[in-house]
Amino acid sequence: MRIAVFNTKPYDRRFLDQANAAFGHDLHFLEPRLEPGTVSLAAGHGAVCVFVNDIVDAAVLETLAAGGTRLVALRCAGFNNVDLAAALRLGIDVVRVPAYSPHAVAEFTIGLLLAVDRHIPRAWARVRDNNFALDGLIGRNLHGRTVGVVGTGKIGALVARSLRAGFGCEVLASDLYPDPALEALGVRYVPRDTLLREAEIVTLHCPLTPDTRHLIDTAAIAAARDGLVVVNTSRGALIDTAALIEGLKSRKIGAVALDVYEQEADLFFEDLSNEIVSDDQFQRLLTFPNVLVTGHQAFLTEEALAAIAQTTLRSVADAEAGRMLANRVDSGWIAPSK
Ligand code: NAD
Repeated sequence: MRIAVFNTKPYDRRFLDQANAAFGHDLHFLEPRLEPGTVSLAAGHGAVCVFVNDIVDAAVLETLAAGGTRLVALRCAGFNNVDLAAALRLGIDVVRVPAYSPHAVAEFTIGLLLAVDRHIPRAWARVRDNNFALDGLIGRNLHGRTVGVVGTGKIGALVARSLRAGFGCEVLASDLYPDPALEALGVRYVPRDTLLREAEIVTLHCPLTPDTRHLIDTAAIAAARDGLVVVNTSRGALIDTAALIEGLKSRKIGAVALDVYEQEADLFFEDLSNEIVSDDQFQRLLTFPNVLVTGHQAFLTEEALAAIAQTTLRSVADAEAGRMLANRVDSGWIAPSK
């Protein structure tokens, strides 16, 4: 099938080209992201392939449908950037990659937590400057600390398991569907409010939905333990950034590690080192010594990129052959308000 692959970077091309040897699709790589101003580039393509920050709203989908596109293939797990109700109405199928390597994200999450909690980036910067003083670098043991894991699906379960069985943390969890295997390890499921009140460290692994949007907000921060450490490798809008900044300024929050950011679509995945970044909130976040930000790279491993390419191209082949779409985003996910 002819596929317009939006928002492509050299690593996307490499892994998609490799996987395509087995499928023979006609891949048309495009650098811009999909949005109202670029959607015309998809005309005549049966499928578009997009990533987390492409805009797949009703207007974009209408133009896609008019141009003959019948499939949106997300090369990621999350699909909060797609108007599913509009896709359903227009007869456009939406597929995603539900699991490519939860280990990639889980391992990066633990890495971020250790890095911010033990001041590793600051220590590295000091040593490069021949400053071997240790003042200000005192950390805390993870062992014995209470960590709250919000969302114990594929990624959250690995994080919870690692923290509990590996590091010996007390692990609290919140999910709509408790995992008995985690409970057997001693992970305790509690209501989300209890988790946010009792945890010393909170790590977010639930999807972005109306229920989880801004789950870390002013009220949650006020009710949290002093010195709370917040880790987010899921979706930026799970956190109210303005509230987070206030929590950091008041010292209620002890440290923050983010791989995702509410307004990341205007920043991440691009080299802006020669630009003036006008997002004041983001710039303020970077000024705190106890904040560590990475640019949505938790998924970025060889194994994950290979699996993403393979699953995406197989879904397109299934759609072309009229086979059942195993990775179709079900219309049951459409929020009642939409
Ligand atoms: P998953 O679907 O396996 O797990 C999500 C879990 O969250 C499920 O167990 C679900 O029941 C639970 N959940 C849903 N609503 C909830 C709520 N209101 N409160 C608590 N739990 C709730 O997904 P996953 O593969 O583990 O991925 C988790 C998230 O990680 C994704 O939604 C995606 O946004 C993010 N992600 C980020 C990256 C990255 O590179 N930073 C890569 C992949 C995925």
